[in-house]
Amino acid sequence: MEENQTTSLNISDDLYGYSSATARELPEPDVHIITSAALRVPAHSSILASASPVLENIIDRPRKHRSSERVIPILGVPYDAVVSFVRFLYSFRCSEEEREKYGIHLLALSHVYSVPQLKQSCTKVLGDRLTMENVVDVLQLARMCDAPNLYLKCMKLVANNFKAVEKTEGWKFLQDHDPWLELEILHFMDEAESRRKRSRRLREEQSLYLQLSEAMECLEHICTEGCTSVGPYDMEPTEKGPCSKFSTCQGLQLLIKHFATCKKRVNGGCLRCKRMWQLLRLHSSICEHHDCCRVPLCRQFKLRMQQDNKKDDARWRLLVRKVVSAKTISSLSLPKRKREELQETNNNTNNHGIRSFRL
Ligand SMILES: [Zn+2]
Ligand SMILES: [Zn+2]
Ligand SMILES: [Zn+2]
Repeated sequence: MEENQTTSLNISDDLYGYSSATARELPEPDVHIITSAALRVPAHSSILASASPVLENIIDRPRKHRSSERVIPILGVPYDAVVSFVRFLYSFRCSEEEREKYGIHLLALSHVYSVPQLKQSCTKVLGDRLTMENVVDVLQLARMCDAPNLYLKCMKLVANNFKAVEKTEGWKFLQDHDPWLELEILHFMDEAESRRKRSRRLREEQSLYLQLSEAMECLEHICTEGCTSVGPYDMEPTEKGPCSKFSTCQGLQLLIKHFATCKKRVNGGCLRCKRMWQLLRLHSSICEHHDCCRVPLCRQFKLRMQQDNKKDDARWRLLVRKVVSAKTISSLSLPKRKREELQETNNNTNNHGIRSFRL
């Protein structure tokens, strides 16, 4: 084989992704891409230039001798990967098989020569085919080629499977050659752990506010229509079974019973009474029924707040806001029928005026 021989790439084939007929209409190639192992790919400068601004710059560069042959070296990647790349520049197509086989090289080429469509599709294919074995290599490449989505995907995979990744050749190589990236990965894992902790704490908080908001709902229905063993003294016990939030409701009923009979009361330092007192205050802060509410002390709390003319302290206001928003969130996630029922219960609470308990 001669040195300069044009290898298997033949214009009349569909190597450029054109049909043979279209390919035959192309003028003679006016540029050669030199690949590793000195294999050449003939091509058309106008097509390369229109597909890649970087190649356009290279092609437009003045040559030493007008007559000298135009060549563009693309070295360091396998010949077949260069052929796939050139074919993409002609046809904007790249087979699944090619992307799978030369994904890493095509990503690098598409980045270096600024071919965003190819870069995007390679990023996706590489992201879909990450394994413990290749993830470190792909991560390095993603960082080098400025592919943030792929980078993040790799980071997550490494972080979630660090024990397995640590044993791979890729990781060992990285430790020896790229301590900065190693540090970056360890830092990411640290961050991920604290993110997890943060969101766990938020979830726990949210569930606490939701419990409080449920307690508020239960308090209202206990005081207006009664639920199992506790209800307004002027109403007959209903035959209805426990309500849908009975685990919360039952605890509240026990607390109400205690509150009504406790000798120590709030000022005597009874913690359970104090808790009940706070729940009643919380109710008053979110209650919109004004004068016709049947929950004990609702009006008194409101009046006292007006008389004192002092605003609740910031922490209390924050608590009230969070309970209200937890209630909104939980009612939005209920099916429509349930929401209507809830609405109806709320409306019914407007019609009573006596603040007392049947115990
Ligand atoms: Zn209930
Ligand atoms: Zn008590
Ligand atoms: Zn009220």
